[in-house]
Amino acid sequence: MLNTIPSDVRVVEVGPRDGLQNEKTILDQQLKVDFIHQLVEAGLKDVEATSFVRADKIPQMGDAVHLFDDVKARVDISKNKLICLVPNLKGLENAIQAGVRDIAVFTATSEEFNKKNINATIDESLERISAVCEEAKKHGLGIRGYISTVFGCPYEGKTSLKTMMKLSEKLFDFGAYEVSLGDTIGVANPVQVKDVARELLTNFSLDKFSLHMHDTRGTALANVLSGLDEGFTSFDSSAGGLGGCPYAAGATGNLATEDLIYMLHSMGIKTGVNLDKLSEASTFILSKLGRKSSSKYLLAWQSKRN
Ligand code: MG
Repeated sequence: MLNTIPSDVRVVEVGPRDGLQNEKTILDQQLKVDFIHQLVEAGLKDVEATSFVRADKIPQMGDAVHLFDDVKARVDISKNKLICLVPNLKGLENAIQAGVRDIAVFTATSEEFNKKNINATIDESLERISAVCEEAKKHGLGIRGYISTVFGCPYEGKTSLKTMMKLSEKLFDFGAYEVSLGDTIGVANPVQVKDVARELLTNFSLDKFSLHMHDTRGTALANVLSGLDEGFTSFDSSAGGLGGCPYAAGATGNLATEDLIYMLHSMGIKTGVNLDKLSEASTFILSKLGRKSSSKYLLAWQSKRN
């Protein structure tokens, strides 16, 4: 049994960005705005909304400026964190113009992954992030840091906990309020989660971190449970399991928010999320993508409803 069960857990919803970015079908802006609004209405207070990247790089996020304008009109961004990914100063400038209040910056523990993903070494990525954060702080923006490949890299295999520690320290120094640790390719296991937690505890408190688990090999909830036991109280997940895995065609990527919340609620842990409303939101967006969910909870919910 678990030694520790918190009374409350925070869930950071990444479906509209991390999820949709990896979906082939490009959705109309209005559908994405409706989806974000529905997620917030379901009780998700931290939602990754979009990414201020070049449209030719990620077409699904090409409408970030206009999308955020519409989102602002429907969602109270003073009460909800609508987080937008910002890769560089140009992205930040556009985000600020659009009225974004919360940004996310990202790097990885693997040199090779960073080179392929953002065309920068780890140190170069830190220089970029430092410049973005310095400017973001002048505008009073909230900064969330992401570290990818913490539990393994598609190119380098095992990655270094020392690098994770160094990057965490840098991100906090730059002003991040939180760091999200990603199992980018879904290879983590519960013992590894404990190792990560114990390493972090040598220098940090776990309430400054969120776990971003992928369910590619079916271990995401087991990893969450292990994380809860160590004292993590924040987890990233994607509505309906949106996203798939860019490193394994046809496989599952992000942990589905429904699966995470069902498990937490049935263990007596509060999240503030209405699971029925969330399931409605995911069903809505999946129908527009013309695809089935990878969430086991959502499939059961849909079959009961029909
Ligand atoms: Mg992800």
